[in-house]
Amino acid sequence: MRENNGELTYSLTGEDGGAGEYYRDVALLTDEVLVKLHEDPSIAKFGRYIALRKLETWNPDIYALEWLMIGVLWNVYHSRATVGSVYAGQLLSSLYRLRSRSREARRAVDRLKGIAGTTVLALRHKAVERIQLHSFARLLGWLRASGEFEQESRRLKIWLDFLRGLPGKESAGILHRAVQKASWFERRSLECLGSYTSKVETYIENNRQRLKWQENRIFCSRERVEYHLNMVGADIMNRVFHAGFQAAPEKIVFLPICMRNKPAGACRAVQEGPGYVCRRCSKTCRVHAVTAMAETCDSKVLMIPHASTAFGKERIPEGKVGIVGIACVLNLIPGGYKARDMGYLPQCVLLHYSGCVMHWHPEGIETCIDMDRLQLMLEQGKPSSKS
Ligand code: SF4
Repeated sequence: MRENNGELTYSLTGEDGGAGEYYRDVALLTDEVLVKLHEDPSIAKFGRYIALRKLETWNPDIYALEWLMIGVLWNVYHSRATVGSVYAGQLLSSLYRLRSRSREARRAVDRLKGIAGTTVLALRHKAVERIQLHSFARLLGWLRASGEFEQESRRLKIWLDFLRGLPGKESAGILHRAVQKASWFERRSLECLGSYTSKVETYIENNRQRLKWQENRIFCSRERVEYHLNMVGADIMNRVFHAGFQAAPEKIVFLPICMRNKPAGACRAVQEGPGYVCRRCSKTCRVHAVTAMAETCDSKVLMIPHASTAFGKERIPEGKVGIVGIACVLNLIPGGYKARDMGYLPQCVLLHYSGCVMHWHPEGIETCIDMDRLQLMLEQGKPSSKS
């Protein structure tokens, strides 16, 4: 692992090396975004639809995030969603489910994902198009076919069903306003958070050739507005799930292997469930530091090799386990959804920058987090701090 010598795509750190300013900036933008989104009656209407159908009820702020997500993903990807996208989505998403069967299956499916991501899913049509129900369905098909938006497309499918039950003019209006809000969000988030994501475009440009045929081509080429959406989305989820996290009797921190300072062969961590427990073989390793700190807060730490394998396969009893997911920006929203889906009460702390060998850097860059922030979360959630 190399020490970081400058961010690859995003960086949360200011001149003092800390991320305090970032967390202040994102909180202010989140306040503004939520006020702006809740001005629209479609959020409350969607909430009533959920309640009527007795689907899992979440906080309206999450519905607001999803409505904004519709517009952001439309603006970024609609030109790639073609007539065949719905069928491609059905076919490819069922293939992606085979990845967990074996290492060979994963390799084969990843190869196919790389080919699809560089060929059919990369084709763009030039026609300027206004979002409508059928084109939103096409977009969902493309998102599913890409293999990168499993959680988001599952949630947006509920929105599609909701919209299908409304008069055509009304559903078209809701979709159109989501796209308008997303265009506002793109401008505003660039003003407020652009200084933290200034290298994204250069990274994409410099890695275009390298990413061809790679399974992570779409993931590593995500646009700046998608980073900003994840930043604000993570802040919303942290607020919404905060009380539940604090109340959960057990706490686990899930952190990525890019935080350790030794390569896989030299790291002494031992497997436990879906992750690895640090054996503290290096005093300078950041995983060691997090593990020691979490212990003082009665929390456990598990190192996770890949975001897709976090949380295991079994749903856990509701309300029992609060988790802090440490992740890079693009994994925040899907990670939050997945954690809730598996019964966990999630909070997240962002990696200061991304650097894992699987996606971002040929040798890997050792990553780090705001330790004070993590400690505060865990201390507030300690059973003794609630008495
Ligand atoms: S301190 Fe822990 S995570 Fe770091 S290299 Fe050693 S066993 Fe692995």
